Amino acid sequence: MSEGRSDVDVLIVGAGFAGLYALYKIRRMGLEALALEAAPSVGGTWYANRYPGARVDIQSLDYSYSFSEDLQQQWRWTERYASQPELLCYANHVADRFGLRDSVSLNTRVTRAHFDEGAQCWRVEADDGRTWTARFVIMATGPLSAPNTPAFKGLATFAGQVLHSAQWPREPVDFTGRRVAVVGAGTSAVQIIPTIAPETKSLTVFQRTPAYVVPSHNGPLDPAYETRIKADYAGHRARNRQMRIGFNSDIPPSSRSALEVSADEREAMFEERWRIGGFAFLGAFADIMTNLNANALAAEFVRRKIREIVADPATAELLCPRQPIGCKRMAVDSVGYYAAFNRPNVRLVDVSQSPIEAVTPRGLVTGGREYEFDALVLATGFDAVTGALNRMDLRGRRGLSIQDKWRDGALNYLGLATAGFPNLFNVAGAGSTSAFTCVILSIEHHIDWIADCIAWLDAHGHKTIEATEKAEAEWMAFVHWVAKQTVFLSCDSWYLGANIPGKPRVFMPLASGFPMYAERCAAAAREGYTGFALA
Ligand SMILES: Cc1cc2nc3c(=O)[nH]c(=O)nc-3n(C[C@H](O)[C@H](O)[C@H](O)COP(=O)(O)OP(=O)(O)OC[C@H]3O[C@@H](n4cnc5c(N)ncnc54)[C@H](O)[C@@H]3O)c2cc1C
Repeated sequence: MSEGRSDVDVLIVGAGFAGLYALYKIRRMGLEALALEAAPSVGGTWYANRYPGARVDIQSLDYSYSFSEDLQQQWRWTERYASQPELLCYANHVADRFGLRDSVSLNTRVTRAHFDEGAQCWRVEADDGRTWTARFVIMATGPLSAPNTPAFKGLATFAGQVLHSAQWPREPVDFTGRRVAVVGAGTSAVQIIPTIAPETKSLTVFQRTPAYVVPSHNGPLDPAYETRIKADYAGHRARNRQMRIGFNSDIPPSSRSALEVSADEREAMFEERWRIGGFAFLGAFADIMTNLNANALAAEFVRRKIREIVADPATAELLCPRQPIGCKRMAVDSVGYYAAFNRPNVRLVDVSQSPIEAVTPRGLVTGGREYEFDALVLATGFDAVTGALNRMDLRGRRGLSIQDKWRDGALNYLGLATAGFPNLFNVAGAGSTSAFTCVILSIEHHIDWIADCIAWLDAHGHKTIEATEKAEAEWMAFVHWVAKQTVFLSCDSWYLGANIPGKPRVFMPLASGFPMYAERCAAAAREGYTGFALA
């Protein structure tokens, strides 16, 4: 192993929005920091997911950094919901504006990180053999950055082009006149399908479980709205932080139960939220995410919309989800997902009962029938939340590997640290609320907490901090207990690891809402880092 740059205070793995902010924050503390990024670019999610139609499902005035007043005032989003190219441009702007690039090593995949108990530091190795040592490691590796490619028999034999939504080529892909298959019906598929459908000769969608899809009503950002938000951006962000989901403080959830109003009132409220668009729909009533009866009313409203939009009744029924709404991540559509199925060149194949048997050189086989096409788009999601860490040789004390540590499911105190892995922090990890919030808000929260923690350790002469096994066990029990108060355990989802064969079924995100979570993190810090062992 050749010796690379060594002895940085903080090594950051990943240069998406989390890694970039971590770099900014740690360097401002006067510490030496370096970010190692596997991709050839900063931007993380918004570099990898360059598929046609990729965009945020949270309004950009909310889904953006708040740490710099100048940045948030000066940056101009063109649309209410920014597209992937604009988000990637924003990430690059941030890297340049704050002089971060010289501290990012691109094309550098971390393959190994071992804690050296003698030297009390982390020894980190990249795929090209370079090594570093660091007092602290921040795993800014992303909650949705480890693509899931199903192990279809014969996938390598396909003679056409295979594309994964999260590993999209840098050059634009031309689908004109081609026969295309999309496997998947989650959020990425919902964005890809209506975007490419008009170009293709034929588009066949292989769907296992339909998603609930609500419109975004995306369009140019209204200058009057932008001016209003920017007149008190700090206040807007503060109000967002009071929301369970960390955004949409302009459209707070209703405090009423869906079960206590008349059918007409309920319908009017659902219509109003459908007209507003996006995740505001789930806030139409206070109990949609906590009461299956209330949830069923919201779900049936969306199914009625599907039946109204989709002309062919059989196709409409196949597109109608049966799981509780919001239980799997809801999709937000800016193009016209359901209407795409009215096109003569688009067809839907249900693979819920007869799974895909094999990929052949010409196409794929399901239900004993071969479907032929020229390009195969896998919109098959991610090994979410824990996938990026589980793909590394990551070892803590006494050589304990993360795979052994998390064999029965992720254990993570406050969503930030796991016992046996001192001075190693997770961002947007298991046990945090990040998946149910605007993730940038969570990223800023986590990094601020981690930076304060490092400063406190240095000020108090501590060399290491480590979650205790008791604290993390109690925390994950709390995560599970909170999930049980909601509808989230009533379907298979990536929140539970259910999309990955063999992954332990443990509910990973905390559904308590951001304010309660942030207060628990703050309290632990205030009380001298309770739940952590210090040395
Ligand atoms: C298509 C899509 C749409 C999304 N839309 C929204 C949205 O609307 N709202 C929202 O809140 N969230 C959304 N998300 C979630 C999104 O992941 C977060 O909002 C946010 O971008 C996460 O930033 P991050 O820096 O934590 O992770 P990422 O952006 O995933 O960055 C992690 C980086 O770590 C790198 N990395 C991983 N492992 C290694 C390794 N071993 N060595 C070196 N580098 C490594 C990766 O290459 C990647 O660049 C979306 C995700 C996807 C996939």
